[in-house]
Amino acid sequence: MLDVLRKIVQEVNAADDLEAALKLIVKRVQRSMRTQVCSVYLLDPASQEYVLMATEGLNQEAVGNIRLAPAEGVVGKVASRAEPINLENVADHPSYRYMTGSGEENFHSFLGAPIIHQRKVLGVLVVQQKKQRRFDESEEAFLITMSAQLAGVIAHAEVTGAISVNHGGEGIRKDARFDGVSGAQGVGLGVAMVVSPPADLDAVPDQRIEDIDAELERFRSALTRVRHDIKVVGRSLARRLKGEEQALFDVYLRMLDDNALAGEIEHQIKQGQWAPGALRRVVHEHVHQFEMMDDAYLRERATDIRDLGRRVLACLQEGGATSCPIYPDNMVLVAEEVTPAMLGEVPTDKLVGLVSVNGSGNSHAAILARSMGIPTVMGAVDLPATRVHKREIIIDGYSGRVFVDPSDELTGYYADIMQEEQELSRGLEQLRDLPAQTQDGHRVPLWVNTGLITDVSLALQRGAEGVGLYRSEVPFMIKEFFPSEAEQIESYRRQLEPFAPSPVTMRTLDIGGDKSLSYFPIDEDNPSLGWRGIRVTLDHPEIFLVQVRAMLLASEGLDNLRILLPMVASVVEVDEAVALINQAFAELVDDGYQLIQPEIGVMVEVPAAVYQVRHFAKRVDFLSVGSNDLTQYLLAVDRNNPRVADLYDSYHPAVLTALKQIVDEAHREQVQVSICGELAGEPIGALLLMAMGYDVLSMSSTSLPKVKSAIRGVSSEQAKLFLDTALSFDEPESVRQALEKMLADAGLGHLDRPHAPQ
Ligand code: PEP
Ligand code: MG
Repeated sequence: MLDVLRKIVQEVNAADDLEAALKLIVKRVQRSMRTQVCSVYLLDPASQEYVLMATEGLNQEAVGNIRLAPAEGVVGKVASRAEPINLENVADHPSYRYMTGSGEENFHSFLGAPIIHQRKVLGVLVVQQKKQRRFDESEEAFLITMSAQLAGVIAHAEVTGAISVNHGGEGIRKDARFDGVSGAQGVGLGVAMVVSPPADLDAVPDQRIEDIDAELERFRSALTRVRHDIKVVGRSLARRLKGEEQALFDVYLRMLDDNALAGEIEHQIKQGQWAPGALRRVVHEHVHQFEMMDDAYLRERATDIRDLGRRVLACLQEGGATSCPIYPDNMVLVAEEVTPAMLGEVPTDKLVGLVSVNGSGNSHAAILARSMGIPTVMGAVDLPATRVHKREIIIDGYSGRVFVDPSDELTGYYADIMQEEQELSRGLEQLRDLPAQTQDGHRVPLWVNTGLITDVSLALQRGAEGVGLYRSEVPFMIKEFFPSEAEQIESYRRQLEPFAPSPVTMRTLDIGGDKSLSYFPIDEDNPSLGWRGIRVTLDHPEIFLVQVRAMLLASEGLDNLRILLPMVASVVEVDEAVALINQAFAELVDDGYQLIQPEIGVMVEVPAAVYQVRHFAKRVDFLSVGSNDLTQYLLAVDRNNPRVADLYDSYHPAVLTALKQIVDEAHREQVQVSICGELAGEPIGALLLMAMGYDVLSMSSTSLPKVKSAIRGVSSEQAKLFLDTALSFDEPESVRQALEKMLADAGLGHLDRPHAPQ
């Protein structure tokens, strides 16, 4: 039975659209269960009725015409109770309603199972037979399993709008919403421009050739053109990107080196394969290897190789001629996989948003989009990219949502948000040189989180007073090998120097979990609980020591370095890391460098650390709370998993209680505590943390002006009231609602992050 189930699901998954999928379902289920009827009813969201969408056994004319209100008829009853109903004779059931024209009067036995996806009843799957009999247990189990497995497929097909229940046909309904994840914050309203790969590598056939030299020549000249194009693209982005981000293009170029892809392709050509065939073979092989990897970063490399392959093919096929599309103003670039190179090909001054059907917030494209400040949604997996070209589109980079064919109402809503954001940021610019202090003079230093070089200038423009978290893994992530000590010194100096004498807190390499390096794969079933952060670097003191030496050397003469240790769960880890830092320091001083001992801090981001704050505080100079991971670990909710995203909430009373406890315990040891998770960048979160007593709030520079404005808009007493209110609830939603209201009552509602309509 399992095999039958798997086969049906596979077939349905491969169907072109919802209509085809539903037809297949009823046909296959009817045959496998040997029943006379199988039908599927789906909820029409507009009318809230269950509509007969496909049937095998009832009259075909009834399809689309039979509609039942929830709880109407036995089908409606299955839906409203959200549980199966198994009847010997359906007509005996009190809810039975004869459906004229269906032909169901001939069928007595009835088994209906609800189709439920993410707690919502999407419809009902029904089988019927002439004979009066109860379906047996195994039949019931089969139908329930079938319906559970098909729910996801149906939900996907429905949301892609291939056929919407209420419209049918080809159209995507107004305000069609597609969910992904946030790649870069902000709102973009514009026209979708679907950028598709220049050539279809998959369609290239094998072909034997005679003149190998000529083919090699053809391939090399295509390669030269692609190399040239990539350099042009890199240069055209140079205005908006800094050195490290531009290094991505060097990675591209290196992939085409003779001893990388190009060498392998030439080898195939020398065996008598024509250039496009050789290209397809080599690219497929590499893509396959990368795609098989569990590691998200490495999977991203498959995208880069595929993109390069298409480029070379385009040059081979068209002699390099490229058409020059006309890009509209306010364009939103949409692609199955947005690649860094695509960003360089479109005029970025016209670009108001990016949508990538595949990829994650970790992809190179998302890293670039963030540094360029372009609102971006990644991983909008249900978006039918091929069908949205030139349609109006809205990007909500806050919540990771995309709306196609927005109604006037929705456009107005987002246009207002955009205008509000623009006005707000203009107004907030005036706060740049003013202190973050409450109306009664309580001052809270606002620092920034950085990673890319680009973040530095933005942070200084916004009036940051220091760096609370430099994510040192970011420059490691956009390289092909571990950066050398010299390269690291240069990167770190570019972070330390612009802020001197203000402090810059450099976190040692925090890889593992969802942050991986292509050249240092970590393959684990449960990476968040695995080898990450300090665990990796203590196991590899050679990596740790080089990094610490580079940080120390970069700080020579600036003396503003603080070193922060991530993912610490035990004092032993602190002692070992401090010993290594001291060792590096002593060696450099012996070598004659003029250094001062940096302050050392520990991140509090796992529950164990919450209960050990005083022990940590005795060993280090400061603590910094990583509320992103702390929320993930306290609530046991994967911070990257969209399925449980609703459960991830830093306003959960357990998280707030822990945050308060950390600060109280640290202060008992007279040790400074800062916080660098996302919560510190939210106006309400910042007020709570200030009231708890946090000494420094560190956030992305885009959040800084709003947080400063919130702090300047209240008194310490008001902030205390926010905190008391927050701590009085037993679940997060009430906390949020109460605090949002309090913020609005304080005349600061405009600072709250915009929420997309439901
Ligand atoms: C955190 O966990 O809150 C944090 C700041 O670190 P990251 O988001 O880089 O894991
Ligand atoms: Mg963290």
